[in-house]
Amino acid sequence: MAIPSQPESAYDFDFVVVGSGFGGSVAALRLAEKGYRVAVMEMGRRWTPATLPRSSWFLNRWFWRPSLGLKGFFSMRFFRHVTVLHGCAVGGGSITYACTSLRAPDKIWRTGSWVGLAPWEAEMPSHYETASRMLGIAQNTILGPADHLLQKVADEAGVGATFYQTNVAILQSPEGKPGGQSVGDPYFGGEGPPRSTCTGCGGCMMGCHHGAKNTLDLNYLWLAEKRGAKIFAETKVVDVKPWHGSADGSHGYEVRTVRSTALFAKHSRRLTCGGVVFAASSLGTMDLLFDLKDRGLLPRISDQLGKHVRTNSESLLAVRTPGFPEDLSQGVAIGSGVYIDEHTHIEAVRYPRRSDTMSLLTTPLTNGVPGLQRIVLWLRNLLTIFLRHPIRTLRVIQPFGWARENVVLLCMQALEGDLQMRWKRPWYWPFRKCLTSHGEKVPTYIPQANAFAERFARLTGGTAMSMTPEILFNIPGTAHCLGGCVIGASPEQGVVDHRHQVFGYQNLYVCDGSVVGANLGVNPSLTITALAERAMSFIAPATK
Ligand SMILES: Cc1cc2nc3c(=O)[nH]c(=O)nc-3n(C[C@H](O)[C@H](O)[C@H](O)COP(=O)(O)OP(=O)(O)OC[C@H]3O[C@@H](n4cnc5c(N)ncnc54)[C@H](O)[C@@H]3O)c2cc1C
Ligand code: SF4
Repeated sequence: MAIPSQPESAYDFDFVVVGSGFGGSVAALRLAEKGYRVAVMEMGRRWTPATLPRSSWFLNRWFWRPSLGLKGFFSMRFFRHVTVLHGCAVGGGSITYACTSLRAPDKIWRTGSWVGLAPWEAEMPSHYETASRMLGIAQNTILGPADHLLQKVADEAGVGATFYQTNVAILQSPEGKPGGQSVGDPYFGGEGPPRSTCTGCGGCMMGCHHGAKNTLDLNYLWLAEKRGAKIFAETKVVDVKPWHGSADGSHGYEVRTVRSTALFAKHSRRLTCGGVVFAASSLGTMDLLFDLKDRGLLPRISDQLGKHVRTNSESLLAVRTPGFPEDLSQGVAIGSGVYIDEHTHIEAVRYPRRSDTMSLLTTPLTNGVPGLQRIVLWLRNLLTIFLRHPIRTLRVIQPFGWARENVVLLCMQALEGDLQMRWKRPWYWPFRKCLTSHGEKVPTYIPQANAFAERFARLTGGTAMSMTPEILFNIPGTAHCLGGCVIGASPEQGVVDHRHQVFGYQNLYVCDGSVVGANLGVNPSLTITALAERAMSFIAPATK
Protein backbone atom coordinates (compact mmCIF):
# COMPACT_ATOMS: atom_id res chain seq x y z
CA MET A 1 0.00 0.00 0.00
CA ALA A 2 1.23 3.54 -0.76
CA ILE A 3 0.24 6.77 0.88
CA PRO A 4 0.53 9.85 -1.31
CA SER A 5 3.37 12.05 -0.14
CA GLN A 6 1.18 15.06 0.69
CA PRO A 7 1.91 18.69 -0.08
CA GLU A 8 3.95 20.15 2.80
CA SER A 9 0.82 21.63 4.41
CA ALA A 10 -1.26 18.43 4.71
CA TYR A 11 0.79 16.27 7.10
CA ASP A 12 3.89 17.19 9.07
CA PHE A 13 5.41 13.86 7.94
CA ASP A 14 4.30 11.03 5.67
CA PHE A 15 5.37 8.41 8.23
CA VAL A 16 6.23 8.53 11.91
CA VAL A 17 8.37 5.61 13.09
CA VAL A 18 8.13 4.92 16.84
CA GLY A 19 11.50 3.57 18.02
CA SER A 20 14.86 3.33 16.26
CA GLY A 21 15.93 -0.28 16.92
CA PHE A 22 16.27 -3.01 14.31
CA GLY A 23 12.72 -2.78 12.94
CA GLY A 24 12.53 1.02 13.20
CA SER A 25 15.86 1.65 11.48
CA VAL A 26 14.96 -0.53 8.51
CA ALA A 27 11.58 1.22 8.24
CA ALA A 28 13.21 4.66 8.42
CA LEU A 29 15.70 3.94 5.64
CA ARG A 30 13.41 2.06 3.29
CA LEU A 31 10.57 4.60 3.62
CA ALA A 32 12.96 7.52 3.08
CA GLU A 33 14.35 5.74 0.00
CA LYS A 34 10.80 5.40 -1.34
CA GLY A 35 10.41 9.18 -1.22
CA TYR A 36 8.47 9.53 2.04
CA ARG A 37 9.10 12.25 4.61
CA VAL A 38 9.98 10.26 7.72
CA ALA A 39 10.24 11.19 11.40
CA VAL A 40 11.79 8.71 13.82
CA MET A 41 10.76 9.22 17.46
CA GLU A 42 13.21 7.62 19.89
CA MET A 43 12.87 7.89 23.64
CA GLY A 44 16.53 7.00 24.29
CA ARG A 45 19.58 9.21 23.85
CA ARG A 46 22.03 9.46 20.97
CA TRP A 47 25.47 8.02 21.86
CA THR A 48 28.98 8.50 20.53
CA PRO A 49 32.19 6.72 21.63
CA ALA A 50 33.01 9.84 23.66
CA THR A 51 29.77 9.79 25.67
CA LEU A 52 29.57 6.02 26.37
CA PRO A 53 30.25 4.93 29.98
CA ARG A 54 33.76 3.67 30.78
CA SER A 55 32.32 0.71 32.69
CA SER A 56 29.02 -0.52 34.11
CA TRP A 57 29.84 1.21 37.43
CA PHE A 58 28.88 4.50 35.70
CA LEU A 59 25.23 3.62 36.24
CA ASN A 60 23.88 7.00 35.14
CA ARG A 61 25.27 6.44 31.62
CA TRP A 62 24.58 2.74 31.45
CA PHE A 63 21.17 2.15 33.00
CA TRP A 64 17.91 3.67 31.75
CA ARG A 65 15.56 4.90 34.47
CA PRO A 66 15.16 8.63 33.77
CA SER A 67 12.87 9.18 36.77
CA LEU A 68 15.93 8.34 38.94
CA GLY A 69 18.32 10.43 36.84
CA LEU A 70 19.73 7.35 35.06
CA LYS A 71 19.86 8.12 31.33
CA GLY A 72 21.83 5.22 29.88
CA PHE A 73 21.01 2.79 27.08
CA PHE A 74 20.30 -0.43 28.95
CA SER A 75 17.18 -1.31 30.88
CA MET A 76 15.68 -4.18 32.87
CA ARG A 77 11.99 -4.72 33.50
CA PHE A 78 10.75 -7.10 36.15
CA PHE A 79 7.64 -9.26 35.71
CA ARG A 80 6.26 -12.17 37.73
CA HIS A 81 7.36 -14.64 35.05
CA VAL A 82 10.46 -13.08 33.54
CA THR A 83 13.04 -10.29 33.84
CA VAL A 84 13.48 -8.60 30.47
CA LEU A 85 16.78 -6.94 29.49
CA HIS A 86 16.50 -4.46 26.62
CA GLY A 87 18.08 -1.48 24.95
CA CYS A 88 16.90 2.11 24.78
CA ALA A 89 18.84 4.51 22.55
CA VAL A 90 19.08 5.96 19.07
CA GLY A 91 19.87 2.61 17.47
CA GLY A 92 17.63 0.72 19.95
CA GLY A 93 19.10 -2.51 21.29
CA SER A 94 22.05 -2.33 18.88
CA ILE A 95 23.99 -0.01 21.21
CA THR A 96 24.00 -2.57 24.04
CA TYR A 97 23.61 -5.84 22.16
CA ALA A 98 26.36 -8.41 21.84
CA CYS A 99 26.03 -8.30 18.02
CA THR A 100 25.64 -12.04 17.52
CA SER A 101 23.67 -12.34 14.33
CA LEU A 102 22.35 -15.78 13.56
CA ARG A 103 19.75 -16.89 11.05
CA ALA A 104 16.89 -18.74 12.64
CA PRO A 105 16.48 -22.30 11.37
CA ASP A 106 13.89 -22.84 8.59
CA LYS A 107 11.69 -24.89 10.90
CA ILE A 108 10.52 -21.70 12.66
CA TRP A 109 8.35 -20.88 9.61
CA ARG A 110 6.55 -24.19 10.06
CA THR A 111 5.35 -23.45 13.62
CA GLY A 112 3.53 -20.63 15.37
CA SER A 113 1.00 -18.05 14.28
CA TRP A 114 2.51 -17.24 10.87
CA VAL A 115 2.36 -20.76 9.40
CA GLY A 116 1.08 -20.81 5.81
CA LEU A 117 0.56 -17.04 5.54
CA ALA A 118 3.40 -16.55 3.06
CA PRO A 119 6.00 -18.69 1.31
CA TRP A 120 8.41 -17.79 4.12
CA GLU A 121 11.09 -20.36 3.34
CA ALA A 122 11.29 -19.12 -0.25
CA GLU A 123 11.06 -15.39 0.57
CA MET A 124 13.15 -14.95 3.70
CA PRO A 125 16.63 -15.92 2.42
CA SER A 126 16.91 -12.81 0.23
CA HIS A 127 15.77 -10.57 3.12
CA TYR A 128 18.25 -12.25 5.47
CA GLU A 129 20.92 -11.56 2.86
CA THR A 130 20.04 -7.86 2.60
CA ALA A 131 19.91 -7.58 6.40
CA SER A 132 23.30 -9.33 6.75
CA ARG A 133 24.90 -7.05 4.17
CA MET A 134 23.50 -3.89 5.77
CA LEU A 135 24.57 -4.99 9.27
CA GLY A 136 28.02 -6.04 8.03
CA ILE A 137 27.80 -9.57 9.39
CA ALA A 138 30.84 -11.82 9.22
CA GLN A 139 32.11 -14.83 11.08
CA ASN A 140 33.94 -13.95 14.27
CA THR A 141 37.67 -14.50 13.89
CA ILE A 142 38.67 -13.11 17.28
CA LEU A 143 38.53 -16.05 19.65
CA GLY A 144 39.36 -15.20 23.25
CA PRO A 145 40.32 -17.50 26.13
CA ALA A 146 36.62 -17.98 27.02
CA ASP A 147 35.91 -19.36 23.53
CA HIS A 148 38.83 -21.79 23.73
CA LEU A 149 37.55 -22.99 27.10
CA LEU A 150 34.06 -23.47 25.68
CA GLN A 151 35.50 -25.61 22.91
CA LYS A 152 37.48 -27.73 25.39
CA VAL A 153 34.45 -28.32 27.60
CA ALA A 154 32.32 -29.17 24.55
CA ASP A 155 34.99 -31.69 23.44
CA GLU A 156 34.98 -33.28 26.88
CA ALA A 157 31.18 -33.43 26.87
CA GLY A 158 31.22 -35.15 23.48
CA VAL A 159 29.60 -32.24 21.61
CA GLY A 160 32.83 -30.65 20.32
CA ALA A 161 31.67 -31.08 16.73
CA THR A 162 28.87 -28.55 17.32
CA PHE A 163 31.30 -25.79 18.35
CA TYR A 164 30.99 -22.78 16.08
CA GLN A 165 32.36 -19.24 15.85
CA THR A 166 29.45 -16.82 15.95
CA ASN A 167 28.51 -14.49 13.12
CA VAL A 168 28.85 -10.96 14.39
CA ALA A 169 28.03 -7.43 13.25
CA ILE A 170 31.58 -6.20 13.82
CA LEU A 171 34.23 -4.69 11.57
CA GLN A 172 37.22 -7.02 11.99
CA SER A 173 40.76 -6.53 10.71
CA PRO A 174 41.94 -8.71 7.84
CA GLU A 175 43.70 -11.82 9.12
CA GLY A 176 47.13 -11.12 10.57
CA LYS A 177 46.51 -7.37 10.97
CA PRO A 178 46.10 -5.78 14.43
CA GLY A 179 42.77 -4.29 15.51
CA GLY A 180 42.14 -0.63 16.27
CA GLN A 181 43.00 0.59 12.74
CA SER A 182 41.02 3.52 11.27
CA VAL A 183 39.52 2.84 7.87
CA GLY A 184 37.25 4.71 5.46
CA ASP A 185 33.65 3.50 5.12
CA PRO A 186 34.03 -0.24 4.40
CA TYR A 187 30.36 -1.04 3.76
CA PHE A 188 28.48 1.54 1.69
CA GLY A 189 30.83 2.66 -1.08
CA GLY A 190 31.94 5.74 0.84
CA GLU A 191 28.44 6.88 1.84
CA GLY A 192 28.75 5.47 5.35
CA PRO A 193 30.91 6.81 8.21
CA PRO A 194 34.65 6.13 8.62
CA ARG A 195 35.28 3.28 11.05
CA SER A 196 37.84 1.49 13.16
CA THR A 197 38.56 -2.23 13.41
CA CYS A 198 37.78 -4.39 16.43
CA THR A 199 40.31 -4.67 19.23
CA GLY A 200 38.62 -7.68 20.88
CA CYS A 201 38.11 -5.76 24.13
CA GLY A 202 34.91 -7.67 24.95
CA GLY A 203 33.04 -4.40 25.51
CA CYS A 204 30.21 -4.73 22.97
CA MET A 205 27.46 -4.77 25.62
CA MET A 206 28.77 -1.55 27.19
CA GLY A 207 28.73 0.20 23.80
CA CYS A 208 31.73 0.13 21.48
CA HIS A 209 34.31 2.84 22.23
CA HIS A 210 36.24 2.01 19.08
CA GLY A 211 33.56 2.45 16.41
CA ALA A 212 34.01 -1.20 15.39
CA LYS A 213 30.56 -2.54 16.24
CA ASN A 214 28.08 -2.11 13.40
CA THR A 215 25.40 -0.36 15.42
CA LEU A 216 22.31 0.91 13.63
CA ASP A 217 23.36 4.56 13.87
CA LEU A 218 26.34 3.65 11.65
CA ASN A 219 24.35 1.89 8.92
CA TYR A 220 20.54 2.04 8.51
CA LEU A 221 19.99 5.24 10.50
CA TRP A 222 23.06 6.94 9.06
CA LEU A 223 21.80 6.36 5.52
CA ALA A 224 18.19 7.21 6.46
CA GLU A 225 19.30 10.61 7.77
CA LYS A 226 21.25 11.18 4.55
CA ARG A 227 17.98 10.58 2.70
CA GLY A 228 16.15 13.17 4.75
CA ALA A 229 14.70 11.17 7.66
CA LYS A 230 14.60 13.23 10.87
CA ILE A 231 15.52 11.50 14.13
CA PHE A 232 14.10 12.99 17.32
CA ALA A 233 16.08 11.60 20.28
CA GLU A 234 14.79 11.64 23.88
CA THR A 235 11.27 11.85 22.45
CA LYS A 236 8.64 9.43 23.67
CA VAL A 237 5.44 8.79 21.73
CA VAL A 238 2.45 8.79 24.08
CA ASP A 239 -0.60 9.21 21.80
CA VAL A 240 -1.45 7.97 18.30
CA LYS A 241 -5.00 8.47 17.03
CA PRO A 242 -6.72 8.68 13.66
CA TRP A 243 -6.81 12.25 12.36
CA HIS A 244 -9.98 14.08 11.27
CA GLY A 245 -12.25 11.56 12.98
CA SER A 246 -11.78 8.67 10.52
CA ALA A 247 -12.22 5.38 12.39
CA ASP A 248 -9.60 3.45 10.42
CA GLY A 249 -6.92 6.12 10.02
CA SER A 250 -7.57 6.56 6.31
CA HIS A 251 -7.17 10.36 6.74
CA GLY A 252 -3.87 9.97 8.59
CA TYR A 253 -2.89 10.09 12.26
CA GLU A 254 -2.18 12.59 15.00
CA VAL A 255 0.82 11.74 17.16
CA ARG A 256 1.71 13.29 20.53
CA THR A 257 5.20 13.10 22.02
CA VAL A 258 6.82 14.18 25.28
CA ARG A 259 10.45 14.64 26.27
CA SER A 260 11.44 11.30 27.81
CA THR A 261 14.39 12.51 29.86
CA ALA A 262 12.67 15.53 31.46
CA LEU A 263 11.13 15.18 34.90
CA PHE A 264 8.95 18.28 34.63
CA ALA A 265 8.98 20.50 31.47
CA LYS A 266 8.06 17.60 29.17
CA HIS A 267 7.40 19.76 26.08
CA SER A 268 4.38 17.91 24.76
CA ARG A 269 4.35 18.15 20.95
CA ARG A 270 1.67 17.19 18.39
CA LEU A 271 2.25 16.32 14.79
CA THR A 272 0.32 14.73 11.96
CA CYS A 273 1.30 12.00 9.53
CA GLY A 274 -0.12 9.71 6.88
CA GLY A 275 1.04 6.46 8.52
CA VAL A 276 2.74 5.14 11.65
CA VAL A 277 5.23 2.31 12.08
CA PHE A 278 5.35 0.98 15.65
CA ALA A 279 8.89 -0.28 16.23
CA ALA A 280 9.27 0.22 19.97
CA SER A 281 10.34 -3.42 20.66
CA SER A 282 8.11 -6.18 21.94
CA LEU A 283 7.56 -4.58 25.36
CA GLY A 284 7.50 -0.97 24.11
CA THR A 285 4.96 -1.64 21.37
CA MET A 286 2.74 -3.66 23.71
CA ASP A 287 2.92 -0.86 26.30
CA LEU A 288 1.89 1.74 23.75
CA LEU A 289 -0.80 -0.25 21.92
CA PHE A 290 -2.45 -1.48 25.15
CA ASP A 291 -2.56 2.09 26.43
CA LEU A 292 -3.96 3.46 23.13
CA LYS A 293 -6.60 0.71 22.94
CA ASP A 294 -7.53 1.14 26.60
CA ARG A 295 -7.96 4.93 26.24
CA GLY A 296 -10.10 4.48 23.13
CA LEU A 297 -7.57 6.10 20.76
CA LEU A 298 -7.05 2.89 18.72
CA PRO A 299 -10.00 0.75 19.86
CA ARG A 300 -9.90 -1.63 16.90
CA ILE A 301 -6.54 -3.19 17.86
CA SER A 302 -7.04 -6.95 18.03
CA ASP A 303 -7.69 -8.63 21.39
CA GLN A 304 -4.75 -10.86 20.50
CA LEU A 305 -2.53 -8.02 21.76
CA GLY A 306 -0.25 -9.34 24.51
CA LYS A 307 -0.66 -12.97 23.53
CA HIS A 308 2.19 -15.30 22.44
CA VAL A 309 5.03 -13.49 24.22
CA ARG A 310 8.15 -15.63 23.94
CA THR A 311 11.53 -15.53 25.63
CA ASN A 312 13.72 -18.00 23.72
CA SER A 313 13.59 -20.02 26.98
CA GLU A 314 16.82 -18.46 28.16
CA SER A 315 18.79 -19.18 31.27
CA LEU A 316 21.97 -17.39 32.34
CA LEU A 317 24.74 -19.37 34.01
CA ALA A 318 28.36 -18.45 34.64
CA VAL A 319 31.70 -19.79 35.77
CA ARG A 320 33.98 -17.57 37.85
CA THR A 321 37.61 -18.53 38.30
CA PRO A 322 39.53 -16.13 40.58
CA GLY A 323 43.22 -16.12 39.71
CA PHE A 324 42.68 -17.57 36.22
CA PRO A 325 45.93 -16.92 34.32
CA GLU A 326 44.24 -15.37 31.27
CA ASP A 327 41.94 -12.38 30.95
CA LEU A 328 38.53 -13.93 30.23
CA SER A 329 37.04 -10.57 29.20
CA GLN A 330 39.09 -10.58 25.97
CA GLY A 331 37.43 -11.40 22.66
CA VAL A 332 34.09 -10.17 21.31
CA ALA A 333 31.06 -10.21 23.62
CA ILE A 334 29.71 -13.51 22.26
CA GLY A 335 32.49 -15.22 20.36
CA SER A 336 31.31 -18.81 20.07
CA GLY A 337 28.61 -21.33 20.85
CA VAL A 338 27.84 -25.05 21.10
CA TYR A 339 24.73 -27.21 20.91
CA ILE A 340 24.63 -29.50 23.93
CA ASP A 341 21.56 -31.29 22.55
CA GLU A 342 19.05 -30.87 19.74
CA HIS A 343 17.13 -28.12 21.55
CA THR A 344 19.74 -26.53 23.80
CA HIS A 345 22.31 -24.04 22.71
CA ILE A 346 25.01 -22.37 24.87
CA GLU A 347 27.07 -19.29 24.00
CA ALA A 348 30.20 -17.95 25.72
CA VAL A 349 29.52 -14.35 26.76
CA ARG A 350 31.73 -11.74 28.39
CA TYR A 351 31.72 -8.20 29.74
CA PRO A 352 34.72 -5.89 29.36
CA ARG A 353 37.27 -5.48 32.10
CA ARG A 354 35.98 -3.43 35.08
CA SER A 355 32.30 -3.86 34.08
CA ASP A 356 31.61 -5.98 37.13
CA THR A 357 28.15 -4.85 38.27
CA MET A 358 26.29 -7.84 36.78
CA SER A 359 28.12 -10.00 39.34
CA LEU A 360 25.78 -8.54 41.97
CA LEU A 361 23.02 -10.69 40.45
CA THR A 362 25.00 -13.96 40.51
CA THR A 363 25.36 -16.64 43.17
CA PRO A 364 26.85 -20.15 43.35
CA LEU A 365 24.86 -22.60 41.23
CA THR A 366 22.21 -24.78 42.84
CA ASN A 367 20.49 -27.68 41.12
CA GLY A 368 17.00 -28.87 41.92
CA VAL A 369 13.38 -28.20 41.15
CA PRO A 370 12.44 -24.51 41.54
CA GLY A 371 10.63 -23.47 44.68
CA LEU A 372 11.21 -23.45 48.41
CA GLN A 373 13.14 -26.71 48.22
CA ARG A 374 15.71 -25.12 45.90
CA ILE A 375 16.03 -22.03 48.10
CA VAL A 376 16.76 -24.21 51.12
CA LEU A 377 19.25 -26.23 49.09
CA TRP A 378 20.88 -23.01 47.89
CA LEU A 379 21.28 -21.69 51.45
CA ARG A 380 22.75 -25.01 52.53
CA ASN A 381 25.15 -25.01 49.56
CA LEU A 382 26.24 -21.47 50.25
CA LEU A 383 26.92 -22.24 53.90
CA THR A 384 28.78 -25.47 53.09
CA ILE A 385 31.10 -23.92 50.51
CA PHE A 386 31.66 -20.92 52.75
CA LEU A 387 32.66 -23.12 55.72
CA ARG A 388 34.90 -25.29 53.54
CA HIS A 389 36.58 -22.52 51.51
CA PRO A 390 35.81 -19.16 53.14
CA ILE A 391 38.40 -17.10 51.23
CA ARG A 392 37.58 -18.65 47.87
CA THR A 393 33.83 -18.17 48.40
CA LEU A 394 34.31 -14.52 49.28
CA ARG A 395 36.45 -14.04 46.18
CA VAL A 396 33.70 -15.56 44.05
CA ILE A 397 30.85 -13.47 45.39
CA GLN A 398 32.57 -10.07 45.68
CA PRO A 399 32.15 -8.02 42.49
CA PHE A 400 35.62 -6.61 41.74
CA GLY A 401 37.50 -8.38 38.96
CA TRP A 402 34.37 -10.36 37.93
CA ALA A 403 34.53 -9.54 34.20
CA ARG A 404 38.21 -10.56 34.00
CA GLU A 405 37.63 -13.89 35.77
CA ASN A 406 34.21 -14.85 34.50
CA VAL A 407 32.52 -16.52 31.55
CA VAL A 408 28.75 -16.10 31.22
CA LEU A 409 27.05 -19.11 29.64
CA LEU A 410 23.92 -18.00 27.82
CA CYS A 411 21.65 -21.00 27.39
CA MET A 412 18.73 -20.89 24.91
CA GLN A 413 16.17 -23.55 24.14
CA ALA A 414 14.07 -23.77 20.97
CA LEU A 415 11.04 -25.24 22.73
CA GLU A 416 7.46 -24.05 22.31
CA GLY A 417 5.81 -22.25 25.19
CA ASP A 418 4.63 -18.70 25.63
CA LEU A 419 3.37 -16.12 28.11
CA GLN A 420 0.62 -13.56 27.97
CA MET A 421 0.87 -9.87 28.88
CA ARG A 422 -2.23 -8.04 30.14
CA TRP A 423 -2.88 -4.37 30.84
CA LYS A 424 -3.83 -4.17 34.49
CA ARG A 425 -3.47 -2.20 37.69
CA PRO A 426 -1.11 -4.31 39.79
CA TRP A 427 -2.15 -4.77 43.44
CA TYR A 428 1.10 -3.20 44.63
CA TRP A 429 0.66 -0.05 42.48
CA PRO A 430 -3.04 0.58 41.75
CA PHE A 431 -2.54 4.15 40.48
CA ARG A 432 -2.00 3.26 36.84
CA LYS A 433 -2.22 0.34 34.47
CA CYS A 434 0.86 -1.46 33.22
CA LEU A 435 1.92 -4.74 31.59
CA THR A 436 1.57 -7.78 33.82
CA SER A 437 2.64 -11.29 32.86
CA HIS A 438 0.47 -14.43 33.01
CA GLY A 439 0.73 -18.09 32.07
CA GLU A 440 3.06 -21.00 32.62
CA LYS A 441 6.49 -20.11 33.96
CA VAL A 442 9.45 -20.53 31.62
CA PRO A 443 11.83 -23.14 33.12
CA THR A 444 14.70 -21.64 35.11
CA TYR A 445 16.26 -25.01 35.69
CA ILE A 446 17.73 -26.67 32.62
CA PRO A 447 19.58 -29.68 34.13
CA GLN A 448 21.78 -30.33 31.08
CA ALA A 449 22.90 -26.66 31.06
CA ASN A 450 23.73 -26.78 34.77
CA ALA A 451 25.73 -29.97 34.20
CA PHE A 452 27.65 -28.22 31.40
CA ALA A 453 28.42 -25.24 33.66
CA GLU A 454 29.68 -27.59 36.38
CA ARG A 455 31.91 -29.38 33.87
CA PHE A 456 33.23 -25.99 32.74
CA ALA A 457 33.99 -25.07 36.37
CA ARG A 458 35.87 -28.34 36.94
CA LEU A 459 38.05 -27.62 33.90
CA THR A 460 39.00 -24.08 34.99
CA GLY A 461 39.10 -24.79 38.71
CA GLY A 462 36.35 -22.20 39.16
CA THR A 463 32.84 -22.05 40.61
CA ALA A 464 29.66 -22.51 38.59
CA MET A 465 27.21 -19.66 39.16
CA SER A 466 23.62 -18.82 38.30
CA MET A 467 21.39 -15.75 38.57
CA THR A 468 20.05 -15.05 42.07
CA PRO A 469 16.50 -14.10 40.86
CA GLU A 470 16.30 -17.46 39.08
CA ILE A 471 16.97 -19.28 42.34
CA LEU A 472 15.06 -17.06 44.78
CA PHE A 473 12.00 -16.22 42.72
CA ASN A 474 12.17 -18.81 39.92
CA ILE A 475 12.20 -15.92 37.44
CA PRO A 476 14.40 -16.35 34.36
CA GLY A 477 16.16 -13.41 32.72
CA THR A 478 15.93 -12.83 28.98
CA ALA A 479 17.37 -10.35 26.49
CA HIS A 480 15.14 -11.85 23.81
CA CYS A 481 11.56 -10.88 24.63
CA LEU A 482 9.56 -11.41 21.45
CA GLY A 483 5.92 -11.51 20.34
CA GLY A 484 2.82 -9.87 21.78
CA CYS A 485 1.65 -8.38 18.45
CA VAL A 486 2.17 -11.48 16.38
CA ILE A 487 1.59 -11.98 12.67
CA GLY A 488 -1.67 -13.88 12.13
CA ALA A 489 -4.24 -14.72 9.47
CA SER A 490 -6.97 -12.55 11.01
CA PRO A 491 -7.61 -10.36 14.07
CA GLU A 492 -8.69 -13.55 15.84
CA GLN A 493 -5.17 -14.96 15.40
CA GLY A 494 -2.83 -11.99 15.47
CA VAL A 495 -2.46 -8.21 15.67
CA VAL A 496 -0.88 -7.70 12.22
CA ASP A 497 -1.16 -9.45 8.88
CA HIS A 498 1.82 -11.02 7.14
CA ARG A 499 2.70 -7.60 5.67
CA HIS A 500 2.86 -6.23 9.24
CA GLN A 501 -0.24 -4.04 8.67
CA VAL A 502 -2.31 -3.65 11.87
CA PHE A 503 -5.75 -5.26 11.45
CA GLY A 504 -8.54 -2.65 11.43
CA TYR A 505 -6.39 0.33 10.39
CA GLN A 506 -4.90 1.85 7.24
CA ASN A 507 -1.18 2.65 7.04
CA LEU A 508 -0.49 1.44 10.57
CA TYR A 509 2.35 -1.08 10.84
CA VAL A 510 4.32 -2.97 13.48
CA CYS A 511 7.96 -3.71 12.63
CA ASP A 512 9.89 -5.06 15.60
CA GLY A 513 10.36 -8.14 17.74
CA SER A 514 6.69 -8.08 18.80
CA VAL A 515 5.51 -9.56 15.47
CA VAL A 516 7.63 -12.73 15.77
CA GLY A 517 5.21 -15.66 15.70
CA ALA A 518 7.37 -18.60 16.86
CA ASN A 519 10.23 -19.42 19.20
CA LEU A 520 13.42 -18.63 17.23
CA GLY A 521 15.85 -20.47 19.49
CA VAL A 522 18.67 -18.10 18.40
CA ASN A 523 19.48 -14.43 19.01
CA PRO A 524 16.71 -12.53 17.23
CA SER A 525 18.07 -9.23 15.84
CA LEU A 526 18.89 -10.55 12.37
CA THR A 527 15.44 -12.12 12.00
CA ILE A 528 13.76 -8.89 13.18
CA THR A 529 15.82 -6.94 10.62
CA ALA A 530 15.03 -9.39 7.81
CA LEU A 531 11.30 -9.38 8.65
CA ALA A 532 11.31 -5.56 8.60
CA GLU A 533 13.07 -5.59 5.21
CA ARG A 534 10.34 -7.88 3.91
CA ALA A 535 7.52 -5.76 5.38
CA MET A 536 8.93 -2.56 3.86
CA SER A 537 9.31 -4.21 0.45
CA PHE A 538 5.48 -4.26 0.18
CA ILE A 539 5.10 -0.50 0.61
CA ALA A 540 4.91 1.24 -2.76
CA PRO A 541 6.99 4.35 -3.44
CA ALA A 542 5.44 7.72 -2.61
CA THR A 543 3.22 9.21 -5.31
CA LYS A 544 3.78 12.95 -5.67
C1 LIG B 1 22.45 -6.86 26.80
C2 LIG B 1 21.78 -7.35 25.54
C3 LIG B 1 22.49 -8.13 24.64
C4 LIG B 1 21.87 -8.60 23.47
N1 LIG B 1 22.61 -9.31 22.57
C5 LIG B 1 22.03 -9.71 21.42
C6 LIG B 1 22.79 -10.39 20.45
O1 LIG B 1 23.99 -10.62 20.60
N2 LIG B 1 22.17 -10.77 19.30
C7 LIG B 1 20.84 -10.52 19.09
O2 LIG B 1 20.31 -10.90 18.04
N3 LIG B 1 20.10 -9.88 20.00
C8 LIG B 1 20.66 -9.46 21.15
N4 LIG B 1 19.92 -8.76 22.06
C9 LIG B 1 18.49 -8.56 21.79
C10 LIG B 1 18.28 -7.42 20.79
O3 LIG B 1 18.90 -6.26 21.26
C11 LIG B 1 16.78 -7.20 20.60
O4 LIG B 1 16.18 -8.42 20.23
C12 LIG B 1 16.51 -6.17 19.52
O5 LIG B 1 17.12 -4.94 19.84
C13 LIG B 1 15.01 -5.95 19.37
O6 LIG B 1 14.82 -5.13 18.24
P1 LIG B 1 13.48 -4.28 18.09
O7 LIG B 1 13.51 -3.66 16.75
O8 LIG B 1 12.33 -5.15 18.43
O9 LIG B 1 13.52 -3.16 19.22
P2 LIG B 1 14.71 -2.39 19.92
O10 LIG B 1 15.99 -2.60 19.24
O11 LIG B 1 14.63 -2.72 21.37
O12 LIG B 1 14.30 -0.87 19.72
C14 LIG B 1 13.12 -0.32 20.23
C15 LIG B 1 13.38 1.15 20.53
O13 LIG B 1 12.12 1.79 20.74
C16 LIG B 1 12.27 2.78 21.73
N5 LIG B 1 10.95 3.06 22.31
C17 LIG B 1 10.20 2.25 23.09
N6 LIG B 1 9.02 2.85 23.38
C18 LIG B 1 9.04 4.06 22.77
C19 LIG B 1 8.11 5.13 22.70
N7 LIG B 1 6.90 5.08 23.29
N8 LIG B 1 8.46 6.25 22.00
C20 LIG B 1 9.67 6.33 21.38
N9 LIG B 1 10.60 5.33 21.42
C21 LIG B 1 10.27 4.21 22.10
C22 LIG B 1 13.26 2.16 22.70
O14 LIG B 1 13.92 3.19 23.43
C23 LIG B 1 14.20 1.40 21.77
O15 LIG B 1 15.33 2.17 21.45
C24 LIG B 1 20.51 -8.28 23.22
C25 LIG B 1 19.80 -7.48 24.13
C26 LIG B 1 20.42 -7.02 25.28
C27 LIG B 1 19.64 -6.16 26.22
S1 SF4 C 1 35.03 -6.27 21.10
FE1 SF4 C 1 35.46 -4.14 21.68
S2 SF4 C 1 36.23 -3.17 19.82
FE2 SF4 C 1 35.28 -5.11 19.20
S3 SF4 C 1 33.18 -4.49 18.64
FE3 SF4 C 1 33.10 -5.17 20.77
S4 SF4 C 1 33.40 -3.26 21.94
FE4 SF4 C 1 34.02 -2.82 19.85
